[in-house]
Amino acid sequence: MELSYQSTRGKEANVTASQAILKGLAADGGLFMPSFIPKLDKTMKELSTLTYQETAYEVMKLFLTDYTEEELKSCINCAYDSKFDTEEIAPLAKADGAYYLELYHGSTIAFKDMALSILPHLMTVAAKKNQVKNKIVILTATSGDTGKAAMAGFADVEGTEIIVFYPKNGVSRVQELQMVTQKGKNTHVAAIHGNFDDAQTGVKKIFGDKEFAAQLEEKGYQLSSANSINIGRLVPQVVYYVYAYGKLLAGGEISDGERINVAVPTGNFGNILAAYLARQMGVPIKKLICASNENKVLYDFFQSGTYDRNRDFILTSSPSMDILISSNLERLIYLSTGCNAEENAGLMKELNETGSYTVTPAMKKFMEDFIGGYAGEAENQRTIKDLFDRTGYVIDTHTGVAASVYRQYKEQSKDETKTVIASTASPYKFSGSVLEALEGKKSEEDEFRIIDRLSDVSGIDIPQAVEEIRTAPVLHQTECDGDRMKETVMGFLA
Ligand SMILES: *Cc1c(COP(=O)(O)O)cnc(C)c1O
Repeated sequence: MELSYQSTRGKEANVTASQAILKGLAADGGLFMPSFIPKLDKTMKELSTLTYQETAYEVMKLFLTDYTEEELKSCINCAYDSKFDTEEIAPLAKADGAYYLELYHGSTIAFKDMALSILPHLMTVAAKKNQVKNKIVILTATSGDTGKAAMAGFADVEGTEIIVFYPKNGVSRVQELQMVTQKGKNTHVAAIHGNFDDAQTGVKKIFGDKEFAAQLEEKGYQLSSANSINIGRLVPQVVYYVYAYGKLLAGGEISDGERINVAVPTGNFGNILAAYLARQMGVPIKKLICASNENKVLYDFFQSGTYDRNRDFILTSSPSMDILISSNLERLIYLSTGCNAEENAGLMKELNETGSYTVTPAMKKFMEDFIGGYAGEAENQRTIKDLFDRTGYVIDTHTGVAASVYRQYKEQSKDETKTVIASTASPYKFSGSVLEALEGKKSEEDEFRIIDRLSDVSGIDIPQAVEEIRTAPVLHQTECDGDRMKETVMGFLA
């Protein structure tokens, strides 16, 4: 059986992997899904001896079936190289009985690098394969980390322009500085007056605007996305769950076939969906612990079966998870209907019109291995501090949410299954909040003073990505209202 891609809303089918990557979002507003989830064709034991790059090939070849071996290996080797500060690419650190999968060793020190280091390579190969003559405009909404990682990946990549929208008051100081100091003739950034959902909804609207697409086409442009709605983001994220299991096996931490749990700090539901895909491919994963901050839409959903975004948007110290519309949940919903695009499209229409929908008992049953949980600010701070006091290991505020929810789950369920916690950002990306957790009070000092003190307290070297922005000039100053995004895009391309 040949694998192809189809929209979760049914109006596009038989799309190749490279076409799906080029398009980003399907024309009907749906997300591309593979026609089936492939099974790993090597045993976990065999996979456990492989490097990150080799593992990436074994996983990605099963999804990206119209890429040749040579093309795929070249993309992988260009992506996972010395841009990462460790040869392991995604090391596992054991602390306080859990395994932290450190996904922040790439150039922008958040887990978005795991996929965005390779997406530009996948995209340029896809453009060649499909004889694309237009310039590809990567349009992206960011809650803080995707924007920088996408710009770093696409900067000065021939045949592309990259445009990022971020919420003006919704990102950390380091995140903002990283974006506004980004070099590259083809990089564009705008701060929007609104929150992440406004940015994401605006971007999705632009994707659905046929008239606008025609205007762009006339000028020789076509749109694509670097958000996790792009299947080219999701597939590379499956790799590190396979790799992590292999490392646990190779290190003798688990026996062959032993099931593990994963705990993932969740926003747009991309990272945890990748863990689910890894499980369906054959990685022995038992529970998927979906951790939210105070924007606990997903927790409520897994409790009640009702997804309801009608609530206040809360700004937290884990801004990359401040999201009320988790786009990738649509892919799980679609799977839970038995890939019934019509049923899924109906629910998404309801979400769009009323802000909520309720799944059937059968669909809820399908998702029973997802455990929703959430942690507030005080609990998150306590977790970060406790872990540091006990082990000397420092985690960021997003990983803190996952560690908190994991602790709650373990206490309530008495489930002693070994657990991998996705560690999604370097503590330096959120220095103010992390130092506040460690010292018990908020510092009013300058951001870089805080960074230096965090280094003193934690003993962790300040990453290159942070040193770079200390003195870098600000190159981007555009701001816009949420309803002026189209005009802003045109302005950038003029
Ligand atoms: C993006 C991000 C998340 C959320 O990941 P999703 O795939 O959107 O669920 C969590 N932590 C950090 C640091 C992030 O950048």
